[in-house]
Amino acid sequence: MSRKVRADIHLDAIVHNYRLACAQAPEAKAVAIVKADAYGHGAVRVAQSLAAEAPAFGVACIEEALVLRSAGLTQPIVLLEGCFDAEELPVVSREGFWPAVHSEHQLAALERAVLPVPVPVWLKVDTGMHRLGFAPDAVAAAVARLRACAAVSDILLMTHFARADEPEQAMTEMQLARFNQVAEGLGLAASLSNSAAVMAWPEAHRQWLRPGIMLYGATPFERAQPVADQLQAGMTLSSEIIAVRDVPAGEAVGYGAAFVCDQPRRIGTVAMGYGDGYPRHARVGTPVIVAGQRTSLAGRVSMDMLTVDLTDLPHADVGSRVELWGRQLPVAEVARWSDTIAYTLLTGLTSRVPRCYD
Ligand SMILES: *Cc1c(COP(=O)(O)O)cnc(C)c1O
Repeated sequence: MSRKVRADIHLDAIVHNYRLACAQAPEAKAVAIVKADAYGHGAVRVAQSLAAEAPAFGVACIEEALVLRSAGLTQPIVLLEGCFDAEELPVVSREGFWPAVHSEHQLAALERAVLPVPVPVWLKVDTGMHRLGFAPDAVAAAVARLRACAAVSDILLMTHFARADEPEQAMTEMQLARFNQVAEGLGLAASLSNSAAVMAWPEAHRQWLRPGIMLYGATPFERAQPVADQLQAGMTLSSEIIAVRDVPAGEAVGYGAAFVCDQPRRIGTVAMGYGDGYPRHARVGTPVIVAGQRTSLAGRVSMDMLTVDLTDLPHADVGSRVELWGRQLPVAEVARWSDTIAYTLLTGLTSRVPRCYD
């Protein structure tokens, strides 16, 4: 018998979610963002499942892009942070990658480069995120230099929103206004929209969308949202109860004796812990599905195990299936109970958890 931890990856749901992203902007194309091993879902399998419809993929760096090429994927691949080193440029050119250009050193490297095939670049504009990109008043000059550059075949303008997941926030409108002012008259295609903007900011759609988290079925929004509510879970993380005991009132469960039984309780031990990527900071009360029914964490999460309250689930026993997040329990809900976001839970799943593809 082996440990029953697994992450089922629902490739059909990921395809559904990709189509949902595309349906928000029928005139646009959508780069499927598969960085960080497709947010923990397996970049190669996810990209293969989208290969028939996604015109391009997006990753953080050339290493991630080369993994997709080695697997036989032929689409252009956007390098969202561009090249870290000028030595990457010949590979970028040969492999058909589209690098972001977010800073002077990347621009200067392109000006010096002699490449087998000129590359299309995504010029990043810093409209207020203040992480990467050219300041709005530096963009026209950067575009002029790129246009004069023999190593560059095409230029697209991109920017990234800091608060698109907060639909009532004015900051996205401010970033959009700055972007529009910069882009005016340049006649370049544009890409602005992460998942939140794909779903909530139609005025930001333009030529290329960049959906990430929504492909995996997790909402970036705090509240219900009409498009996000149609997403399907891309992953179900599950395990089994490996022990059950009756704990008397007044006795505590787990490290730090942090959960004290207020009454006699039936406690189940689940083979799942922070060594698998389940958040150690998930609070007592975090929902868990046992044998199809909702219950909750009782006590702190350990490395290989966690404990759940089975007092009201008399039929649950050793061997009962436990869903930690997935089709019956949105990962974003577990994230809220853990004071984090779905992104960290999905990308934080460790290699100890086998990914099973259905
Ligand atoms: C990761 C990333 C995205 C995707 O963001 P989601 O919120 O996951 O949709 C889009 N654009 C850039 C530049 C990114 O780094």
